Amino acid sequence: MLRPILRLGDSILSAPARPVEAISVDVEKLIDDMIETMYAAPGVGLAAPQVGVSLKIFVIDISLGKDPAGLHTMINPEFVSREGMQLEEEGCLSVPGFTSTVARPKRVVVRGLNRHGDEHTLEGTGLLARALQHEMDHLNGCLFVDRLRGIAREMILRKVKKLSKAGKW
Ligand SMILES: [Zn+2]
Repeated sequence: MLRPILRLGDSILSAPARPVEAISVDVEKLIDDMIETMYAAPGVGLAAPQVGVSLKIFVIDISLGKDPAGLHTMINPEFVSREGMQLEEEGCLSVPGFTSTVARPKRVVVRGLNRHGDEHTLEGTGLLARALQHEMDHLNGCLFVDRLRGIAREMILRKVKKLSKAGKW
């Protein structure tokens, strides 16, 4: 089932998500829906708060469904390591129509549970590292816009406010 994706301005997006206590039927359904919603968008990642559920879960697939091994589900993830620095253009399904250059570590290792409750570790460089950090940020109530400074941030916020006023957000 497709779930609506919340947009910048919704308070759920700026709240830290709660850890998952048990992988219940509801949680499994949520994960299925998140995968479906991510592919339909399309996006390379989606975090539970983006569909209005404040739980520490994200799904990621930088191949956009082309590589069957590219899909990963992370429950209660944490960083194991972060190294280096990359500067690339970044966007977010919750901030449609806007992108900006965001500084991120070049390589990250994230550890969490898969949908069966088994611990797994994901190592990413380049786009995968960026996507992993972007989704980890969502679980901490942080959007890429919050990582911007000065005029870049102000410009996006001002345009979103205008769109909201016009009922187009
Ligand atoms: Zn996002």
